Amino acid sequence: MSGLARGFAPPPGRGYLLWGRVEELREMSNPPRGRIPIAEGLFAGALDSPRLRGSRCGACGETTFPAQNGCPSCTAQGCEEVELSPRGTLWTYTVQRFPPPPPYTGETDDFVPYAVGYIELPEGVRVEARLTESDASRLAIGMEMELAVEPFAVDDEGREVVTFAFAPIAVD
Ligand SMILES: [Zn+2]
Repeated sequence: MSGLARGFAPPPGRGYLLWGRVEELREMSNPPRGRIPIAEGLFAGALDSPRLRGSRCGACGETTFPAQNGCPSCTAQGCEEVELSPRGTLWTYTVQRFPPPPPYTGETDDFVPYAVGYIELPEGVRVEARLTESDASRLAIGMEMELAVEPFAVDDEGREVVTFAFAPIAVD
């Protein structure tokens, strides 16, 4: 199990990291009626060719995710929105092997371990994200990763609520 980051814990309040019913949703017999993102302003463009929406500071050049008006680096206001690259490298990761405390909304009885990591994008920003691969033996720091759209839940109107994750890019 070398390569597992120690001391890594996702900060609270990041709802898009906390889905826990992905496998259940994949096995649903009735396909959901449409897809909507879990948070407004999370994605730029269509979900078929997803990009994450970030922001860039005009004063110091810092790129941040999620998009925000104020720069966390130099506190300048008025950052411009940018579409982030859909590919990056795995900076660090860990595998969640037991149900997290609330606000986790997934199964706790039938918990399925999942991986969380930071993806370093060419813009220099590190994006915290769920990983589609939860087997630590198939993950490695520095490997190429690609943005993916993953089911999170189904809302009252039967729409699939989706969030983002990163998937390892198959290398020959
Ligand atoms: Zn700045």
